[in-house]
Amino acid sequence: MKNDVRVVVIGGGVVGVSVLYHLTKAGWKDVLLIERGELTCGSTWHAAGGMHTINGDPNVAKLQQYTINLYKEIEQISGQSCGMHVTGGIMLAGTRARLDWLKMAKARGRYLGMELEIISVDEAARIFPLMNKEHFVGALYDPIEGHVDPYGVTHAYARAAQIGGAQVVRHTRVTDLKPRADGSWDVITDHGNVHAEHVVNAGGLWAREVGRMVGLELPILAMEHQYLLTEDIPALKGQKEQLHCIDFEGEIYTRQERGGMLLGTYERAGVPWSPRETPWDFTQSLLPNDLERIAPSLEVGFEHFPALGEAGIRKVVNGPFTFAPDGNPLVGPIRGLRNFWVACGVMAGFSQGGGVGLALSHWMVDGDPGADIWGMDVARYGDWATLAYTNAKVRENYSRRFRIRFPNEELTAARPLRTTPIYERLQAQHAVFGDYCGLEHALWFAPSAAEANETITFHRSNAHSHVAAECRAVRESVGLLEISNYGKFDVTGAAAEEWLSHVMANRVPKVGRIALTPMLNERGKLIGDFTMARVSPDRVFLVCTYAAEDYYRRWFERHAPPPGVSVRPCAMQYVGLSVAGPHSRALLQSLTREDLSTAAFPFLSFRRMDVGMIPALVGRISFTGDLGYEIWVTSEYQRALYELLIGAGAEYDLKLFGGRALNAMRLEKSFGTWAREYRPIYGPYEAGLGRFVDLRKDSFVGRAAALEEHESGGKLRLLTFTVDARDAEPCGDEPIWHDGRVIGWVTSGGYGHSVQRSLALGFVPKEYAELTSGFEIEILGERCKATRQAAAVFDPEGSRMRA
Ligand SMILES: Cc1cc2nc3c(=O)[nH]c(=O)nc-3n(C[C@H](O)[C@H](O)[C@H](O)COP(=O)(O)OP(=O)(O)OC[C@H]3O[C@@H](n4cnc5c(N)ncnc54)[C@H](O)[C@@H]3O)c2cc1C
Repeated sequence: MKNDVRVVVIGGGVVGVSVLYHLTKAGWKDVLLIERGELTCGSTWHAAGGMHTINGDPNVAKLQQYTINLYKEIEQISGQSCGMHVTGGIMLAGTRARLDWLKMAKARGRYLGMELEIISVDEAARIFPLMNKEHFVGALYDPIEGHVDPYGVTHAYARAAQIGGAQVVRHTRVTDLKPRADGSWDVITDHGNVHAEHVVNAGGLWAREVGRMVGLELPILAMEHQYLLTEDIPALKGQKEQLHCIDFEGEIYTRQERGGMLLGTYERAGVPWSPRETPWDFTQSLLPNDLERIAPSLEVGFEHFPALGEAGIRKVVNGPFTFAPDGNPLVGPIRGLRNFWVACGVMAGFSQGGGVGLALSHWMVDGDPGADIWGMDVARYGDWATLAYTNAKVRENYSRRFRIRFPNEELTAARPLRTTPIYERLQAQHAVFGDYCGLEHALWFAPSAAEANETITFHRSNAHSHVAAECRAVRESVGLLEISNYGKFDVTGAAAEEWLSHVMANRVPKVGRIALTPMLNERGKLIGDFTMARVSPDRVFLVCTYAAEDYYRRWFERHAPPPGVSVRPCAMQYVGLSVAGPHSRALLQSLTREDLSTAAFPFLSFRRMDVGMIPALVGRISFTGDLGYEIWVTSEYQRALYELLIGAGAEYDLKLFGGRALNAMRLEKSFGTWAREYRPIYGPYEAGLGRFVDLRKDSFVGRAAALEEHESGGKLRLLTFTVDARDAEPCGDEPIWHDGRVIGWVTSGGYGHSVQRSLALGFVPKEYAELTSGFEIEILGERCKATRQAAAVFDPEGSRMRA
């Protein structure tokens, strides 16, 4: 074993070898993989090897496509067969709602270039004769599903990496990791030590334990998973290999295995494996079968696929594999640990392993993953994702693997976990809550406790009229919204302005003023959007997206502030309330002796002031696009502030509103938001944020690329559309058609209650940006006429927020 290398990859499962291969491909040859047993001896060896392209996150779906297309390449380089069987796949719908979901999946696949097809039950039965037609209403066909041989794939990656210069060492366990002052690592093993510039944790079933070596508690948990193999089925003899099949209602997947079938299930009563600590002596091992547990799924399966029930069971496999709380991988560098990377929590290694390796290798070699991988960035989880939280969410996710997630559906596990001081007060007002980073926040308010429940649906729900009333209150009088779920940073120090001016694209505002700003990476792409509020010469209060707090902290570490500047995340120390609507000024004015007239406190002002007895930071800004104020207080004051506003608000017909109404109103104003309109695949000019990029500044991160985009105009444009939808709104990821061709995709959608129109924001190539007609947006399989709007549909001049 070499004792000094550029990278040590810990773990020789399908993910570790993919990272190793991609590092050599990206030009880093001095790389070493350390595996405690044989390659594949963790969860990889007993996998069913299934691969598919569909994923709820289109960017992850793209990486899945990449993975499947990679197998030929590694076979060619290594000479090792991956045992590919590209049979095609069929997804069966047993209900209308599921068929709607499949139509949505097909529509999303369109702009990813997938050739998915909705087919009738008769057609499905023709190409997959094992099914009993009675139980189904339709199906989706995907020509590039199939399965691979886990051993073959893993060895093909490893061999290809070795040909590229990598070393693979087996039967060697990493027992500890010690950082050096220069950011490099001493990797301690039971066969001697290695010094490495970088370490990658691809420890799979043991990734948690490897994380603990460096003080990291990764939010992953292994679940037991069972599949069975039937005896040979006479009807398959002499036939073409059967398609892969997913039966959503049965929560079953099947594929052919030699002369019989493989049938697996994600049962509702899933069982975690080794919830606290993974045993090190679990090598190339399986778990005892528990057919009882999966009996309900098997019963349905044998009814839906009678030939499987008639065949005997040849073998049952029960093996563990790991999941993150949302079921997507955890990839990327770890904040606070230099040169330490993770590639773990990969629950579909044969669909995702290649994409994970590609993204991580680019990140390590070029400093950027090269694709939008927000959906699998390890930074999406903060400290709140504890061991027990992870346990609850992973079990929920596992049991829901084949269930529909409706666009308005809120999941219930691990709740309530984080609440703000006014939680009970909002509950008493019949708030229906959503979960955001483990934090409860009000989505909408029902008229009574009995009605505080939302029907989950693809169509307009029972919340529709109540959300409409909340929007009306904001647009006609005044509404009160809790805004604690925004991210916040307190940046202090004499050089705070200088540092912010370097990391943000806009100019830091003067004292007492607010400026909106994109944050760009070196490629000039959007990696954040902030409001910067200048409290004093040496203090700037940043407001941003809370879910991205760790993502931003990692970036701020990379572009570290100079000595004397402190960047303190303070999302939960400063909780907030916002009042918005034409009467919001009068309401707030009745509670403070500061002059709130537009002359004294114009739009985008920010000031420390007392509201009643409460010391607060107040900004004149509102994401509703109306006259409005954001009031930030330390948490011990929030209840008093709430009572004060509610009490004084009675005179102005104050009404509580929630996140749903806020979303509707920001769409009416064409305001984008992080992870939807603003993502690292878009430039600021493409996303309509160009006016917040100050190219007059000599230097800031991403300036050269932003200048280039400014001159060339970039490739895309974010547009606003009104949509002739019937009773289902666009909600994101729907294809945008023009003259019969898919040319773009929706990033957000919803119903604009003030304008009484369905609305969508989405990106199209810039050549289409000036056209008004010819657009359609596909909602649940139906192409609905869409009309481009030249400006926001509500108050396009912005006169209300400036009033
Ligand atoms: C029953 C079953 C069916 C499945 N079916 C499918 C399927 O159809 N399709 C699909 O895509 N996925 C499937 N999976 C999931 C798939 O197996 C995983 O996604 C994949 O194996 C994850 O690979 P990995 O490399 O992350 O982890 P692992 O395979 O667990 O690899 C981690 C490796 O790291 C090594 N290691 C850990 N710590 C150390 C250390 N300290 N020192 C040295 N070495 C260390 C381990 O020995 C291990 O070999 C299935 C899993 C199971 C259990």
